[in-house]
Amino acid sequence: MKRKQNPQPFAYDLSEADQKRERHKARELRQSQWWKRRLAKGVCYYCGRPTPPDQLTMDHIVPISRGGKTTRGNVVACCKQCNNAKKQLLPMEWENYLRQFHPSENSQ
Ligand SMILES: [Zn+2]
Repeated sequence: MKRKQNPQPFAYDLSEADQKRERHKARELRQSQWWKRRLAKGVCYYCGRPTPPDQLTMDHIVPISRGGKTTRGNVVACCKQCNNAKKQLLPMEWENYLRQFHPSENSQ
């Protein structure tokens, strides 16, 4: 996977332990009924395409590496395509990517 230049400086403020804890919480959250209900909806949070539950992945809206937490408000189910795109695109490129699915929305 190719790395973008310019890692965000504040990412270094996060301790390894904090990130590990959030990843551990994510593993636990994957076992929860709440998460299973999300998967059962079978829809990608980002592009809205119908996606079989076994194709949905857990995504942190604010990545753990940027200080995001494993909370219900920060975790969504999305398809692999969106998950990959989110990892590889810069934040602005990601916004453009999302816009193609919601062309009429000005905000949100
Ligand atoms: Zn998607």
